[in-house]
Amino acid sequence: MSRTPEQEAPGHAEAPDVGELTPPDRTLMGPGPSPVHPRVLRAMSTPLVGHLDPSFVEMMNETQELLRYTFRTDNQWTIPVSGTGSASMEAAIGNLVEPGETMLVPTNGYFGGRMASMARRAGGEVVEVDAPWGEPLDPADVEAAFEEHQPDVFGFVHAETSTGVLQPEVPELTSIAHDHDAYVIADSVTSLGGVELRVDEWDIDVAYSGPQKCLSCPPGASPLTLNDRAMDKVLDREEEPRSWYLDLSLLEGYWGDERAYHHTAPITNVYALREALRLVAEEGIENRWARHREVAGDLKAGLGELGLEMNADDEFWLPSLNAVRVPDGVDDGAVIDHLLSEHDLEIASGLGDLAGDIWRMGCMGHGARTKNVEFLLSALEEALDEQGYDA
Ligand SMILES: *Cc1c(COP(=O)(O)O)cnc(C)c1O
Repeated sequence: MSRTPEQEAPGHAEAPDVGELTPPDRTLMGPGPSPVHPRVLRAMSTPLVGHLDPSFVEMMNETQELLRYTFRTDNQWTIPVSGTGSASMEAAIGNLVEPGETMLVPTNGYFGGRMASMARRAGGEVVEVDAPWGEPLDPADVEAAFEEHQPDVFGFVHAETSTGVLQPEVPELTSIAHDHDAYVIADSVTSLGGVELRVDEWDIDVAYSGPQKCLSCPPGASPLTLNDRAMDKVLDREEEPRSWYLDLSLLEGYWGDERAYHHTAPITNVYALREALRLVAEEGIENRWARHREVAGDLKAGLGELGLEMNADDEFWLPSLNAVRVPDGVDDGAVIDHLLSEHDLEIASGLGDLAGDIWRMGCMGHGARTKNVEFLLSALEEALDEQGYDA
């Protein structure tokens, strides 16, 4: 194509010819994002208001109330953090961990490693409590790690999305930490709104989550809750947190009583989260936990009928994320590709230590429905058949 001299000048390219947006109609049964409820999508297409508009301030209050209900907490300090789950994660770790302090993190999955990276960037020292990928932490090991290292902050992953393991005995873990005057941060990204989580009853100081897993909301505004004890630590810091954007003492100005500008809230994502949480409240949080167990239980049973094995022991099974072992002789990537290209169905491969060994099948929020599970099982049977696997 010939160009005029002006068009050849840097920065003068022709307008790109990009077509209208037509994303494929996928069924999302991977580790997130999960399928979004039509009501949430509708909420996202409503008109914007300003981030300090009185109507928005009202919606902020309602969203906070709904978040408290979903986290099972009375914590005043319960907010959506602008950004994905990693933003609420970094807000938790970056504010709680002060330079020179020690954070104890788990090694039994991918997200403990991310906790460690964030703690180091906050100026903290990292110590570890070990368990194999595919197993939860043993309280005895946590106790031993506390005796040895006396950490200031202890992080654990309630629902490990990389291994399909649910951490049991949470109150035991928090009581060990509190006996040592430490603070507890729980990663509840894949548990909030999907499996039993009781922030107050279990004595969790800080819990962070994400919207696109069991809340079935697009990513963008991520739940975070801190009790007064944790917030007092944050407000008493000697040194400012290293992130200005995620500094909770500044965010208090916007989400607290003052409602003063800090940064422009992602209005549409707050609408979405509010609607997604309204769906949680309508269903009832305990009914929602039960639905996840029931529907994911059907998935697990169906996988068993196909001769497949779960990665986690039944005792630690995580309904919202089913990690399934890839049978010998089957190409995990070919199955994933087949499901996507033939059925518009998304599942995921393993991460880190489990890459190539497992598939990860989410059963989250609006995706935790019988219809989705039946669809996944029949498509999977076909994909396995294609690979010469005999169920
Ligand atoms: C998804 C996930 C995160 C990170 O959330 P993003 O929204 O991807 O930033 C953190 N922890 C766990 C356990 C997760 O599953």
